[in-house]
Amino acid sequence: MTIATKQYEALTDETAIALARSLYPFPEGAELVCREIGDGNLNYVFQIKDPKSGKGLIIKQALPYAKVVGESWPLTLKRAAIEANALQKHGEFAPGLVPVVYATDEELAITVMEDLSHLTIAREGLIQGEAYPKLSEDIGEYLARTLFHTSDFALHPFEKKRLAAEYSNPELCKITEDLIFTDPFFNNDTNDYEPELQGAVEAIWNNAPLKLEAAKLKFSFLTEAEALLHGDLHTGSIFASESETKVIDPEFAFYGPIGFDVGLFLANLMVQSITRQGEERQIVLSHIEKTWDVFSARFTQLWEQEGIEAFKETAGYKEFVLEKIFRDTLGFAGCELIRRTIGLAHVKDLDGIENAGLRIRLKKQTLQIGEALILKRAEVKSIGAVAGLLEELQ
Ligand code: ADP
Ligand code: MG
Ligand code: MG
Ligand code: MG
Repeated sequence: MTIATKQYEALTDETAIALARSLYPFPEGAELVCREIGDGNLNYVFQIKDPKSGKGLIIKQALPYAKVVGESWPLTLKRAAIEANALQKHGEFAPGLVPVVYATDEELAITVMEDLSHLTIAREGLIQGEAYPKLSEDIGEYLARTLFHTSDFALHPFEKKRLAAEYSNPELCKITEDLIFTDPFFNNDTNDYEPELQGAVEAIWNNAPLKLEAAKLKFSFLTEAEALLHGDLHTGSIFASESETKVIDPEFAFYGPIGFDVGLFLANLMVQSITRQGEERQIVLSHIEKTWDVFSARFTQLWEQEGIEAFKETAGYKEFVLEKIFRDTLGFAGCELIRRTIGLAHVKDLDGIENAGLRIRLKKQTLQIGEALILKRAEVKSIGAVAGLLEELQ
């Protein structure tokens, strides 16, 4: 359903409640409570709830600027429609793995969706030591389904190009291009790191082969319209519990290289594995392996069952494609590891470590793995070998 549009205005608790009431069959006379619960950098997230019946919903609204920086950083409101449409498109192919969208309004830049507050943001839970037994299976499945079904391997080329145009998202892509692929590799003002990392950071800036590979990865990101990506699939974009997994926040969605989504998720698991020891590390390493294993097995199955005939009938082509995705995945994961350590946007997994000596040591390990993945992505034979690299870290 689409709400009768009016001019954009930022919602308040009161207007959010009125809107929720008009959209959802709350019990007669229910006294609704509203809280702004957004902890992201860019948007407002209102939770509207009837405390008596426990019923509620979420209204996410984009602001015409980035919340984290303020009005000095304007950002297109179109991202709200991209997010709402991507949630629904990905929901078609991976039902149950994204929130249900109840309503959208492009003018108000809102998505009205299922309240997932009974789940925890995976990053937070992982930091607390949650094992999330279904996480890798569900995300492997989500990645295979959403990426395969929106690619040229499944779609008529007209439909694929129509979607690629619909999801043109230049402003949000530019943020990724700068913050992941460019700034961390140069002495740029947006970078943010502790003085103890100065030597490691300068080693990156002076590493010509590394910068060359990062530039190649950036060009892939800029040009390879392989599938409708989520575009920001870190562990903060995933709600999880023992039994459920839901992917939120696809405002960076666009047609890009398949390995970018896979790599971003794996990199965020890698950071988590670096912060853990022993048995706990093993749990995360098996999530890393299982994500790739489930993704590639499911992608293969979809290819064989539902793929475009001409591709299916070309011997060796599926293997070629999966090998390319694997290589890209490692390279993009490497860039994510580096930028989460020294770039603008950090992760709590590392920054939350109070012991400064330990924190710096683990950040250096994160940079080391990031560099290795970027430089050696063509040589690494299997996901098991990646887990092996992480397992060895002391
Ligand atoms: P941003 O784009 O600003 O990062 P997110 O979509 O990641 O916004 O949402 C920010 C936070 O709001 C999430 O970390 C979560 O705590 C809360 N949130 C978002 N969507 C939902 C939802 N459907 N149900 C419950 N909480 C949500
Ligand atoms: Mg939260
Ligand atoms: Mg977010
Ligand atoms: Mg977001």
